[in-house]
Amino acid sequence: MSEELTGADVAAVFHRYAKTVAELKDLLTELDTAVGDGDHGTNLDRGMRAAVEALDAGTPGTPGAVFNLVGRRLVSTVGGASGALYGTAFLRAAGAAGDATGLDASRMAAVLRQATDGIAARGKCAAGDKTMYDVWSAATEAVESAAAGGTGLAAALSAGAVAAAETVRRMVPWQARRGRASYLGERSVGHRDPGAVSSQALFECLAAQAAA
Ligand code: ADP
Ligand code: MG
Repeated sequence: MSEELTGADVAAVFHRYAKTVAELKDLLTELDTAVGDGDHGTNLDRGMRAAVEALDAGTPGTPGAVFNLVGRRLVSTVGGASGALYGTAFLRAAGAAGDATGLDASRMAAVLRQATDGIAARGKCAAGDKTMYDVWSAATEAVESAAAGGTGLAAALSAGAVAAAETVRRMVPWQARRGRASYLGERSVGHRDPGAVSSQALFECLAAQAAA
């Protein structure tokens, strides 16, 4: 269990996430075929492969440097909305992490808050629109309240992952109000949002890394 994630740990989170995305690729494609254009799995897989390649090419620096590299790679390799949204989230995370060499629970909460606010700004979305933002928002709130209560990093990120999974389930009966799924109107009801599912996986990778 670690109470702080170093740059190497954050790089390990993204290695885990790239592996998870490769495993979830077909599911994400299936979910995006139902409510969008079927490219979320391939988009994110391509982006995370490129991100991990870039991480492997250099030595891991600070958490901020790792977030910055991943954010830049996603923006440049993923054409879909999710590339800009995840890319913005990680670039904002990099800004919030600054030069810190480690992220404890309260720094992690601040980093996730900036990332979440970045998604809202880039996507012009709000809570209840049934996008990845709902998952980021709920998970970030859970990490923030755990950190404010003095909980350590591993437990705070575990609370974030639980909130993310609960939110994905809670969103199923909602109607999408942003992104391609919103074009379906009422037909978006009853489906899991692809970006919400891939975001849940990211919060699970963060929690798994802190628990390791
Ligand atoms: P695209 O919609 O361009 O095909 P992807 O399929 O890769 O991009 O990603 C779709 C996901 O991106 C959605 O499931 C949703 O979670 C998220 N998304 C799309 N548009 C927005 C938006 N305006 N605000 C927030 N999230 C969005
Ligand atoms: Mg798509």
